[in-house]
Amino acid sequence: MSVRVRFAPSPTGFVHIGSLRTALYNYLFAKGKGGKYILRIEDTDRARYVEGAIEGMVESMNWAGVNHDEGFQLENGQLMEEGEFGPYMQSRRLEIYQKHIKQLLHQGDAYPCFCSMERIDRIREEQKARGETPKYDGHCKGLSQEEVNEKIENNEEHVIRLKLPEKEEIVFEDMVRGKMSFHTDDIDDQVLIKSDGFPTYHFAVVVDDYLMGITHIIRGEEWVTSTPKHIHLYKSFGWDVPKYVHLPNILNKDKKKLSKRQGDVAVEDFKKKGYLPEALVNYIALIGWSPEDNQEIFTMEELQEKFDLKRVSKSGGVFDVEKLNWMNNHY
Ligand code: GLU
Ligand code: ZN
Repeated sequence: MSVRVRFAPSPTGFVHIGSLRTALYNYLFAKGKGGKYILRIEDTDRARYVEGAIEGMVESMNWAGVNHDEGFQLENGQLMEEGEFGPYMQSRRLEIYQKHIKQLLHQGDAYPCFCSMERIDRIREEQKARGETPKYDGHCKGLSQEEVNEKIENNEEHVIRLKLPEKEEIVFEDMVRGKMSFHTDDIDDQVLIKSDGFPTYHFAVVVDDYLMGITHIIRGEEWVTSTPKHIHLYKSFGWDVPKYVHLPNILNKDKKKLSKRQGDVAVEDFKKKGYLPEALVNYIALIGWSPEDNQEIFTMEELQEKFDLKRVSKSGGVFDVEKLNWMNNHY
């Protein structure tokens, strides 16, 4: 089976260096295995969409030399789509998600939920007051088919939720973290389709990763608790579950998550300041991955050859601008 990986940013702004590293590890892994690296735009949250963000992201990635094989390419400032598994922008794939949600509803693996925002908020407050983790209470799971049909005929606003089984364990082997285990009782019946008909991230990501033939999902650790929901979706569809890798965060010197307040974090900032893209990529590659020997300066070709997921660290790596500067001066 040939390796296919993806970088799936939401067009909400600039490329953070943490995202550059996620993209880079995907890219290096694909190149080292003779596979394909795909860029997919996850723009189902329309409220967070930023005009021009996609162009800016593609430009930053091109500058860094992390070039994708399929997705949107920039030609004379215009976005052109390339590859046979597109469209590569989720807002252009709505029919695909609709078709797949129908299947889940039909199988009884998803259900419509007509609860108002007020009801959901009230339940959450009550749960919090009891010291419980807020979670949808499954109210609409008990509706009869007649009740559902009637509400839908009356155009009652609703979302579609994942129906998770009770008291089941969901286990997976993370290629960096090892065995991870979750219990369905601790997981929410995730909204899959919002009331405006758009899919949520959780639904779109699974459908797309499957249809685009993604074999390895390499992404930030903030997604690790989403993975059991995704695995349950794969199983509901009867699809093979891909391999998962959750990368530790990039931290600042105080060991906190790197954020804009402490200085430059956008690839664009480093580009503007005149850093060499090779130096930035070289430095970023080494935050969280170490080669077998003590080599420090790499060309992109050497990184492709030597990068190994087995040598990705479980704990967060620190971004130190002085080290980056040192590296920048050694090219
Ligand atoms: N769209 C998600 C993000 O913005 C992608 C997460 C994933 O890789 O599954 O980070
Ligand atoms: Zn409900």
